[in-house]
Amino acid sequence: MKNKPTILIVEDDRAVRNLISTTLATHDYKYLLAQNGASALLEATSHNPDIVLLDLGLPDMDGIDIIKKIRSWSNMPIIVISARSEDNDKIEALDAGADDYLTKPFSVEELLARLRVTLRRLNYIRTLSDKESSIFINGDLKIDYNLGCVYLNNEELHLTPIEYKLLCLLAKNVGKVLTHTYIIHEIWGVGYENEVATLRVFMTTLRKKIEKNSNNKYIQTHVGIGYRMLKVENKS
Ligand code: CA
Repeated sequence: MKNKPTILIVEDDRAVRNLISTTLATHDYKYLLAQNGASALLEATSHNPDIVLLDLGLPDMDGIDIIKKIRSWSNMPIIVISARSEDNDKIEALDAGADDYLTKPFSVEELLARLRVTLRRLNYIRTLSDKESSIFINGDLKIDYNLGCVYLNNEELHLTPIEYKLLCLLAKNVGKVLTHTYIIHEIWGVGYENEVATLRVFMTTLRKKIEKNSNNKYIQTHVGIGYRMLKVENKS
């Protein structure tokens, strides 16, 4: 393990901020603190953290605007923290470029699990830029983008064109939660936003094909929000 990952905690609630920072300190993370949007942007630009944990309800700025500002210059992973009643806020945050979300109240285990998922995504992206890859490998799943072929345990899978496009979209955003609207726009285009039921059908058949003979669970459903492909941990 190289350097400890640095997490920027943006939260105006002192109790939550302390809980998160204590948890991170005892689990081998470094952290930076910000109590409002202005200092969040300052910390993000001056320290370039590995991950931002961003409370959406801040006193001085709309969390969505903070995401947009950070996204204008950086792809650093952002995990938003929101209250239970704010499903639309989560969707808006994801569409603005957030990677994941945590719902208050959350447990320490949940927080650590989300950070692990995001770090895996980050490590994957960092290795990618080193060796421009046209092959995606995740556990026993392999996509050859040039050939347009998908393999599970080295056996070719037969996907329909829509299933293939869905799988590629999820793979290219591995570790990130994609909203229904985002996926529909990418696969079918603008104007099909009401086709969530159709999307669900394709997702079910795709999942059957890639998870049936696999030990891994690749696609995670976020009820009312969207889907994510999980990066399976490499055994080494
Ligand atoms: Ca708050």
